[in-house]
Amino acid sequence: MHQKPGVRVEDERFAELVDPSTSVERLGGGATWSEGPLWLPGEDAVLFSDIPGDRILRWTAETGQVTVDRTGVEFTNGRTLDLNGRVVTCSHGRRAVERTEADGSTTILVDRYGSARLNSPNDVVVASDGAIWFTDPPYGIVQPHEGHPGTPEYGGNHVFRFVPETGELVAAIVDVEEPNGLAFSPDERLLYVSDTSAALRTDGSGHHHIAVYDVREDWRCVNGRLFAEITPGLADGFRVDVHGNVWTSSGDSVQVFAPDGVRLGRVPVPETVGNLCFGGENADVLYIAATTSLYRLRTTTRGY
Ligand code: MG
Repeated sequence: MHQKPGVRVEDERFAELVDPSTSVERLGGGATWSEGPLWLPGEDAVLFSDIPGDRILRWTAETGQVTVDRTGVEFTNGRTLDLNGRVVTCSHGRRAVERTEADGSTTILVDRYGSARLNSPNDVVVASDGAIWFTDPPYGIVQPHEGHPGTPEYGGNHVFRFVPETGELVAAIVDVEEPNGLAFSPDERLLYVSDTSAALRTDGSGHHHIAVYDVREDWRCVNGRLFAEITPGLADGFRVDVHGNVWTSSGDSVQVFAPDGVRLGRVPVPETVGNLCFGGENADVLYIAATTSLYRLRTTTRGY
């Protein structure tokens, strides 16, 4: 609350992405821990999760208000749109990835890997071929306020690729300790995945970085390497703009990294950032879910 407005430019390239004199604007709130923001193009609205509140909130541009969209939602987390404009959502409580249909009903798309239950899907993206990629860390089964206590069943925390038409589920990445946010490069040849295994530890161990993988033709991801350490805080969620820059959450700001891994700058946010998305008519507005509130930042780039 005591930071000066304005962005922190650390590389001159950042001035092309955001007006250095701008700052975030609080749109509303009332959440306990905000996650999973998603711009709804036809409705000029942003949905976001209040995970411990077990509800979905909605900010609508027309009214400028945050209202309760749904309650008792089984602890939703990240969400995105599929190629038909339907909302695809991660559910900690159902240990599933689900889809909201036109009539408002919910279809569970995937909740098992073989015979084992998933852990607690956290964040999700849809690729240009319609496949659904999601992370599956344990945060919704080891934190009672973010889901239902449960046991990991398949012995890992994978990044999965799911094909809704066939039901095929492939573990695309198995060597990130606790995968959380994920996003493709604009050409989909790279997949960025954060490791937030430091999140629940008090001894200083665990990771707080974003890794990047090459995406092979068979959709397996290989050659995982460090892209960027995130400090303070975690890369709980992030998005990539049309130029391939990575816009990520952190403890005190939105941090922006060029494709070469150089941090271009930071945009201070008064609350710890959970996740973010591009939205608005031109996809040039960043909507930021940060602890109790939703914020907005006007940029001079676009999400893709
Ligand atoms: Mg997350």
